[in-house]
Amino acid sequence: MTQLALVIDLNVCVGCHACVTSCKEWNTSGWAGPMTDQNPYDADPTGTFFNRVQTYEFGTYPNTETLHFPKSCLHCEEPPCVPVCPTGASYKRPDNGVVLVDYDKCIGCKYCSWACPYGAREIDEKQRVMKKCTLCIDRISDTQLPENERKPACVLACPTSARLYGDVHDPDSEVSVAIREQGGYPLMPEWGTKPANHYLPRRKTRIHIHEDELVRVDNPLKKEGIKPVETGETLDDVAW
Ligand code: SF4
Ligand code: SF4
Ligand code: SF4
Repeated sequence: MTQLALVIDLNVCVGCHACVTSCKEWNTSGWAGPMTDQNPYDADPTGTFFNRVQTYEFGTYPNTETLHFPKSCLHCEEPPCVPVCPTGASYKRPDNGVVLVDYDKCIGCKYCSWACPYGAREIDEKQRVMKKCTLCIDRISDTQLPENERKPACVLACPTSARLYGDVHDPDSEVSVAIREQGGYPLMPEWGTKPANHYLPRRKTRIHIHEDELVRVDNPLKKEGIKPVETGETLDDVAW
């Protein structure tokens, strides 16, 4: 069975939120950009995000790192959000594995959002139905679109190509190769939900500053008078 999914490279994501705004343009408000759909600048702003980018800082100052972590519905292969739905509104497509909500059947009871361990579902307060990432099901199955545009809006918008899209059950697909070769992993596999989306891990980058770079006239460290860690001298002490 085909299982469509996203593979997100955490080493490449720069946290620009282009995926968030392009998702909203295609799927929800169309205009609110990174803000909520209704009353974005007033009291009681409401609205749904199908995709959010969470940013974390970790480590101990000054040795801290920033991690941008995009998260949307992971289109689980064993989705706990589906069997809890009392109306059958929440379902998994048998042909491509995308997990969807039938808005005509949804009664807004929120059982599915309590069952989802990833916090991927959000109630639409205006329409009183449950919303979440559809993998842009209307785009990816639109045969009127050129084939290279039959991709989720977030994938097309990402300026760093951090978001890959394809069939994770096809061993030769771009996403399967990336998972295999770059150590892709699912989120919280211990919950048994078998998320179809995967993440590619951040890789450690070692920075070696060559001596030539220290004597460059435009070296910003020189302007700021920052002490090189290893020598204990200010750069002004160094012969330029
Ligand atoms: S991430 Fe949550 S909403 Fe999406 S399929 Fe898995 S359990 Fe359901
Ligand atoms: S909120 Fe809608 S989709 Fe979710 S469990 Fe209730 S009826 Fe089903
Ligand atoms: S568009 Fe790409 S780089 Fe920008 S936040 Fe989304 S995943 Fe990261």
